[in-house]
Amino acid sequence: MPKTNNQHPTIRIGYGFDSHEFRPAIPLKIGGITLPHDKGLGGHSDGDVLLHAITDALLGAIAAPDIGVLFPPSDPKWKGADSALFLREALKRVRDAGYTLANVDASLILAAPKIGPHAAAVRARVAELLGLRSDCVGLKAKTPEGLNLENAAIAHAVVLLGKAPSRTKKAPKKKQPRKR
Ligand code: MG
Repeated sequence: MPKTNNQHPTIRIGYGFDSHEFRPAIPLKIGGITLPHDKGLGGHSDGDVLLHAITDALLGAIAAPDIGVLFPPSDPKWKGADSALFLREALKRVRDAGYTLANVDASLILAAPKIGPHAAAVRARVAELLGLRSDCVGLKAKTPEGLNLENAAIAHAVVLLGKAPSRTKKAPKKKQPRKR
């Protein structure tokens, strides 16, 4: 048996995947913004496939329970919920575990709408939600060639965490004797 390494790792990687089905006449939320389209993504919450994948990547990086366990679809509390809520909770757990988020990289796979014209806005919003610079959020959009997935959107995301600098209490200042 190998010896268990009990040190907290200085870096951690996380991976998340999600998919949702398109449904007519509901808003399309991707990366925390509403994109113009005649269909949206169905789901118990707002169906934001990208935020769900990133949330699971964050939770996975610290081996926390996944999004379906923390926010079960069976709980009416999460009906129509803004997925930014899930992301914030995952980020809080990452911080509580003593880590900071370095960067995110994600791929979106969907036939329509074209993400290109909205990519900068999506990246900016995801960066804002995560407290990252925009250039620390990678986003690639692909069409599902040969996958026969015209009515679904898929997202994959990876995150990298680094150990947060330890918060040491400042030593109280010693009183200097008054110079006379
Ligand atoms: Mg989902």
